[in-house]
Amino acid sequence: MSEKKQKMQRGVLVLRSVIDGIISYSKSLHPNEGILILQGKTTRDQVTIEGLIIPPFASSGPYYSGFSNYHLPFDNSYVGTAHSHPSGSNRPSLEDLNRGFYGAVSIIIAHPYDDRTMAAYDRDGNKLEINITNSL
Ligand SMILES: [Zn+2]
Repeated sequence: MSEKKQKMQRGVLVLRSVIDGIISYSKSLHPNEGILILQGKTTRDQVTIEGLIIPPFASSGPYYSGFSNYHLPFDNSYVGTAHSHPSGSNRPSLEDLNRGFYGAVSIIIAHPYDDRTMAAYDRDGNKLEINITNSL
């Protein structure tokens, strides 16, 4: 592990209630994918996530949580998305990469949907550390 990235990566600070919301939303849609918009703020070295929004026009299926960036409203407080992977892998799929990136962070949660199956990525595909807090 001698390779160390020079670029400082952002940390992701997430409210416990948001984590629980992502988990219960994902479970309720299983075996379909679900997708949520993350609300919060970004600074140079941190993304803070304090709320969730169900995107308009969302549709979902076993391998696809349908939304296009075209449908997403523009709002400064939208910092990214969270979506579920019923397959059990929390790596970004080909569709995820082709779909384009919305905001500063993409959270993927894999079946069986808990803290440990959750991962966050920046728009370059780098994994970001998730820190959970009970209050902000
Ligand atoms: Zn995906």
